[in-house]
Amino acid sequence: MFAKTARGVYNKNMNAQNYNALMLETAERLSGENNRLLIHACCAPCSSACFERLKTYFKITAFFYNPNIEDGEYLKRKAELIRFIEQTGWADARDCEHDEGAFYSAVKGLENCREGGERCRACFKLRLERTAREAAENGYDYFTTTLTLSPLKDARIINEIGYGLEKKYAVKWLPCDFKKSNGYLRSLQLSEEHKLYRQNYCGCVYSRQTLDKN
Ligand code: SF4
Repeated sequence: MFAKTARGVYNKNMNAQNYNALMLETAERLSGENNRLLIHACCAPCSSACFERLKTYFKITAFFYNPNIEDGEYLKRKAELIRFIEQTGWADARDCEHDEGAFYSAVKGLENCREGGERCRACFKLRLERTAREAAENGYDYFTTTLTLSPLKDARIINEIGYGLEKKYAVKWLPCDFKKSNGYLRSLQLSEEHKLYRQNYCGCVYSRQTLDKN
């Protein structure tokens, strides 16, 4: 059973917010207004299902700000995202720097945290804050991220960060939980259809070291 509140839609039994329902409710309400959305894009496979879900509601711009991703891997993922965008026309792209120093500063002292812990929270915040700033400075109506597509990433943490940045930068956060409604499965199907490169680790040197150990 669901109930609406000022901040969204809650499942009464689980006392958890349904960010996907809230996103779709917002998108439906804005339908036809052609709002501009800046979406932080982590890679082509995740972006595929997110863009598909939103493309009829927003004019989407992808923002590949991922200073966390190691150099060679970064170039590979970025090129694949551009190829996907050119192939589908579901978004356009906005370029930005690959400032690895910003990542290492943001996670200083948190290097040994487990995946999904405090290091990742700092990593999400860094990427979302840069996206919010870019959106505010360039007149976008909304900003959001593809990060919630991953079953390994906590939508509650990501949405809390998004709402905090909405206040700081005065640009609206589009709540999201793209893994809902079979989002992850859809990304697998679209990846197959478009022959997308799918990485097997999150992207930073620490996540690769964990992969190498296992
Ligand atoms: S594991 Fe992923 S989310 Fe966590 S710090 Fe590394 S790149 Fe960022």
